[in-house]
Amino acid sequence: MPPPGGGGGDPTEDVQAFVAARQRVVARIATACGRVGRDPGSVSLIAVSKTVPAERLRAAVAAGLTVLGENRVQEGVAKASDVPGATWELIGPLQSNKARRALEVFARIQTVDSLDLARRLDRLAGEVVPGVRYPVLVQVNVDGDPAKAGFGPSAATEAMAELVGLGNLAVGGLMTVGRFAASATEARATFTALRRLSDELRTHWSASGPELSMGMSDDFEVAVEEGATIVRVGRALFGDRADVGVAGEDPA
Ligand SMILES: *Cc1c(COP(=O)(O)O)cnc(C)c1O
Repeated sequence: MPPPGGGGGDPTEDVQAFVAARQRVVARIATACGRVGRDPGSVSLIAVSKTVPAERLRAAVAAGLTVLGENRVQEGVAKASDVPGATWELIGPLQSNKARRALEVFARIQTVDSLDLARRLDRLAGEVVPGVRYPVLVQVNVDGDPAKAGFGPSAATEAMAELVGLGNLAVGGLMTVGRFAASATEARATFTALRRLSDELRTHWSASGPELSMGMSDDFEVAVEEGATIVRVGRALFGDRADVGVAGEDPA
């Protein structure tokens, strides 16, 4: 079956194809929830739209895929004005010189991976979105994979005291990028470790929120079984991407 919206044909057809693709993923989330007695309403779906052109995204939004995840600031900025009705989240690494732009375009930044970045976002959020605590997630490299961004587990534990005290940010929870091409068993170990870390952190810092952003097209059901509250799904909705690097490791 061709990916929805790939043919460049009738936009109504594209919307219907995205409705079907969305329903399939939502049904898989519900089934995974059923296996572990979770409420499917406790899992939100982010449609990862990197490399997908704005035209297809308009059809996706019309089909109810309204929360879009981008891993590059530039790409989100370029597409945002062409896709009305979407909410954007940053899921890729953020360079400090793009922090202000990111705050302007994205409703949440999931990839706070250093105290320096957090402090900068805190300072800028006071100007860009005054009077609200801007939502962020703390990215954790639970596997200690040298190729991955994020706080190591013990660094996250040490940083949390300061992170929750940054007055212009709201730490909604944790995010991780699982191992590339991991088996389901390996993927599960990563997700279990993130959930345990979250539980532990939250016993010390109640201001650290309960969100667990984990799971992608190949492993989101396992992530849901292990407690994901946010899954980030690209290819299972939009089809295969032509040419991008390892998920989450492209520079923003
Ligand atoms: C690309 C990406 C995803 C989605 O990956 P798929 O395999 O297309 O579902 C999720 N999270 C991050 C950080 C990504 O970069």
